[in-house]
Amino acid sequence: MKPRIVRAGDGETKQAPAEWFVGTVWQDQVFVPEDPSRLRVTRVTFTPGGRTNWHTHAVGQILYVLSGAGRYQIEGEAVQEILPGDTVVIPPDVRHWHGAAPDRMMCHLALSESGESGAVADWMEPVSDADYTAPPQKP
Ligand code: MN
Repeated sequence: MKPRIVRAGDGETKQAPAEWFVGTVWQDQVFVPEDPSRLRVTRVTFTPGGRTNWHTHAVGQILYVLSGAGRYQIEGEAVQEILPGDTVVIPPDVRHWHGAAPDRMMCHLALSESGESGAVADWMEPVSDADYTAPPQKP
């Protein structure tokens, strides 16, 4: 790990992989793990309707909402509305998804640590439209 400032223009915005996301979702890497750190920080911008597939994180995940209006659900619980300034704490091995509201953009920081396998997430099936469009609980 070298001391440095990574400048805003140095990165490349990439489209999130279609096998793990529904809709158009953009990812900017803020920090990619460098030994001895296991931390990965990604700024994720979901366009309206965009969301992750169902997934889990071996050592949990923190989301910090930067802008827009989003959705978040733990399997078996109600969909939650998430808004700028909210911090979402996701424990290890809990099935969940996150994304934009159907009619709004949403941008969050995703802070994840890789587990023993090196992966930060284990990816599963897409979130159904019925689950995605369920009325959310408001803060
Ligand atoms: Mn997650």
